[in-house]
Order: sequence, then C-alpha cells, then structure tokens
Amino acid sequence: MRKHIARLLAVLAALAALIAAPGLPAAFAAPTVTAAQARAADDWNPPANLVQPLNEVWNHVQSTYPDLYGFRNYGWDQVMANRGSVNYCVRWESDAPVSAALRDRIHTALKKQFGKWMAAMVDNGKGHNAWPYTSVPVNIVGWAVKNRSTLQWTDSSVDIYAGNLDGGGAPQCAPDCGRFFHQDGNYSRCPGGASRHYDQSLWLTKGFQGGAGGDWGQRVGQEYFTGTLDQENIHIYLHEVGHTFGLDDFYDWTPTGQCCFLMRAGSAAQITEFDKWMFRDFWRHLKNRYGL
Ligand SMILES: [Zn+2]
Repeated sequence: MRKHIARLLAVLAALAALIAAPGLPAAFAAPTVTAAQARAADDWNPPANLVQPLNEVWNHVQSTYPDLYGFRNYGWDQVMANRGSVNYCVRWESDAPVSAALRDRIHTALKKQFGKWMAAMVDNGKGHNAWPYTSVPVNIVGWAVKNRSTLQWTDSSVDIYAGNLDGGGAPQCAPDCGRFFHQDGNYSRCPGGASRHYDQSLWLTKGFQGGAGGDWGQRVGQEYFTGTLDQENIHIYLHEVGHTFGLDDFYDWTPTGQCCFLMRAGSAAQITEFDKWMFRDFWRHLKNRYGL
C-alpha cells in the first residue's frame, strides 16, 4: 500500500510539473528520462567546418567578457523570464511625425526582424538544444516621445510616455516599467503593471549613424529604420540584437575560415549560418542556469 501511495505521489508530482511548466518539452516533466533523451537534451551538432571557428569565438568570449556567466540580463534571460515573449518600448527621439500607419509598419518590421533571430533557434518545428520556444511573440507596449503631438494617433493600443526624458534629454518609457532598471522582475510601480513592462527599447534617434545594442535594447538612426522598413533585412538592427543576446563584435580578429557574417560589421547584411551557430552556442553555454 505504501508503495502504491508513493507511486501515486510520483504521478501527481509529474502532473504538477507539467502544469507548472507548460513550455517545457515533455521529456523534462516525465518521471524517467532515457539515456537517448538525455543526449538529445544536450544536442550540439554544428557543421564540421564551423567547429573550430566556433571554439575560437567561445574561447575569446570567455577570456574577454568580464562577467560572462554571472550576468543575468541577456536577451535569453529576458525571454525565459517572460516564459517565451519579449516586450518593447519604442523611444522616438525625433520630431518627425508618426502616423498610425507608420507606427503599425514599425511594429510589423520589428516583429519580423526580431523573429529572424528566434527562428535561428528552431529546427523542423523544434527548439534547438532544449530551447523551449518555437516562436517568441514581440509585444510593443509603449512609445516614448518628447511631445505628444508628434504621435498622430488617438487610439489607446499602446501606452504613451510624453516628456519623460532621461539624463541625456532623450524620451524614455517609465523606468518603473523597464527590466533594465528592475532585473528582479518587480514592476509593482509600473502604472500598467507587469504586463506593460518592457524588456528592451527600440531607440530611434534622428541623425544617429551606425548602431548600438545591449541588454537594454537597440539604438539606430530614425531615418535609417523608417527608410528600411520594407527591406528583407534591417541589418544594423539585426546586428544590435545579436549584442542583446550576448554576441560579440569582430573589429580586431576573424575566426578561422569566416570572412563574412553579420556580427562582423560591414561584411554581411543578414544572419548567416555562422551567426546562427554562434547564437546557438551562446544558449548552449547558458542553458544550465535554467536546468536545461
Ligand atoms: Zn556591434
């Protein structure tokens, strides 16, 4: 009888695990994991010609990042904290008017471009190397602007932050709602609550050349972004998202046999096979913090 109760408890525990973690592959919730499943969970199979340059890149990252394994606000951590989505604030640092149509085109482009990196984590409809999400919805929850009149729409589909300026005078969404400022996930002071928090900012600055990217989001020129909305690859933005997920620049060295890829600025205008595998390698080295 005790045995039966023990087994019943084990079944209940497995069910509870399933309910608590709906995004996880079934193998992690099952009471037993076979050796084959365990191997599949640590699947690493880059093309043979990429093995050496990928190892070079990771060795370089390990020897140059000051807090590689302690830092917990990579794009990976943000998506995991949200259980598979990301929230954006658009910082419109420009006096160019924004119609509802332009706003919606910016949203569409942002979702498509961000989705290109997320698609790099999926093989045949399955997350690569235990990555739990086959798609990562992008929500734009707010727009920040200096003067409300710059934004020409009247509907309430996004929160608007007018005249909330950072130390440099650029418009920002409320810091109380920003993950950069609240990495403990406490958004109790965000007017719209946790559902209106933002993980990243898309910072569009008039006259800004080039780009910048990090855990806080990405910054590119306003004219550049609005001028490339219909392009298949908004490559400066894509490069900066690579930084958000931890990828490095390659200004002073080149991995063996790799001349041209997105993270080597100026050498490619789309996510290449090498970029994809560097991205996957970053996840491979971080995933154990999530028990994966
Ligand atoms: Zn860069």
